[in-house]
Amino acid sequence: MTGPAVDLSRLFQRGGLRGLPTIRPRPWRLCIDARRAPLKHDAEMITLNTVSDRPAASAPAAPGALGMTAEEFAEAAVRVGAKGGRVGALERYRAVFERGDVQDPSGAPAAVAGIQRTLTSECAEGTTIKFTQLVRGRAEGDPPLETESVLIPMVGRKGRLTYTLCVSSQVGCAMGCTFCQTAQMGLIRSLEPAEIVQQWFAATHLLGRKVSNLVFMGMGEPMDNLDAVMKAIEVLTDHRGIALPMSKIVVSTVGRVDGIRRLGARVREHGWRRLNLAISLNAPNDEVRRGIMPINRAMPMGELRRALEEWPLYGGAKICFEYVLIPGVNDRREHAREVVDFVLGRGAYEGRPPLKGMVNLIPYNPREGSPWPAPEEADVDLFLSWLLEGSERGEGVYAKRRRTKGRETMAACGQLGNPALRRRRTPREG
Ligand code: SF4
Repeated sequence: MTGPAVDLSRLFQRGGLRGLPTIRPRPWRLCIDARRAPLKHDAEMITLNTVSDRPAASAPAAPGALGMTAEEFAEAAVRVGAKGGRVGALERYRAVFERGDVQDPSGAPAAVAGIQRTLTSECAEGTTIKFTQLVRGRAEGDPPLETESVLIPMVGRKGRLTYTLCVSSQVGCAMGCTFCQTAQMGLIRSLEPAEIVQQWFAATHLLGRKVSNLVFMGMGEPMDNLDAVMKAIEVLTDHRGIALPMSKIVVSTVGRVDGIRRLGARVREHGWRRLNLAISLNAPNDEVRRGIMPINRAMPMGELRRALEEWPLYGGAKICFEYVLIPGVNDRREHAREVVDFVLGRGAYEGRPPLKGMVNLIPYNPREGSPWPAPEEADVDLFLSWLLEGSERGEGVYAKRRRTKGRETMAACGQLGNPALRRRRTPREG
């Protein structure tokens, strides 16, 4: 059962979330869970922070408009003989994203899944917001599932506050990385393009302004759901709709080489060239990587590197290598050297071309039941200095560390996933 439509703008007129810019009222209408007590004010939303598996109301299907480009929307409108024809349809399409006035191609209003729960935590740059939205279950009649997304504040060099949205491409994940909370759920199902775009839609209307950067680093392995991810990117970058610049989108993969090659072919096409690629590397060699990332058994680092050597890079673009620093696992001095060798084509990779890449060092954020603690700050800085050794002489790699945001609300990197949904997992999605 879907709840009544609620005018979200009323919720935010009374002050907005702490640390966020003033929220302009928006005519966005959403559906809330009818069985949840009515919200008294927006602060109530941010304190609903318990993970729950209560039987929620069914989720409205993500409106098709969110999974269509403007052209597809207009074609569908013409096909069903909607009033206003193609021109009217394009105007309605713009209204979907600019004004939050969601309609299907025929002109009928459609509901977007509202924000189910919101968790916030403060960091030096502002408020990190994790939010969930209901999506349909695996099969007809199954209880709904939820997506998790995180809005991460970033203060630029000129002091301007922007937000990066980390989106999920699946509910759960099949990749089984041992350091990751999502892996504990297994894969429940892959998201449809509209369900990915819906996360952008909710984030933008939660903030009251467009989210300017988007990273596929939430739940799921994007290459495991690549058709839907590429379709969502088409919609997100459509200049007659959301118009997010391609250069502001990052697809992060655990290293599925088949997906990297497929996406690479797309990136050679006009309009896709500035899409960014990130590799979740996390290990200095095959032995360590096999131990924490099962993908490495099928696709070892040498094979991954070959796929990256073919990755098309335009202008000054670089591949980003994410390295989650886990105490006692991948934090030794020789590990830093091996990572640099991997990027530059030295040591075990002697004779291979250097990769244009940079390393993003991420202090490990312990998942539930983690056998490892978070690293000490001093150890993170030390590892960073080892990565940077020789970089002034042009012999090292460019590396930086990521500041930890949202760890206490399980919103940080590697911490997404509702353990209560684990039992809904099926062995492998068909
Ligand atoms: S790190 Fe990414 S690929 Fe690995 S289990 Fe977690 S969500 Fe999946």
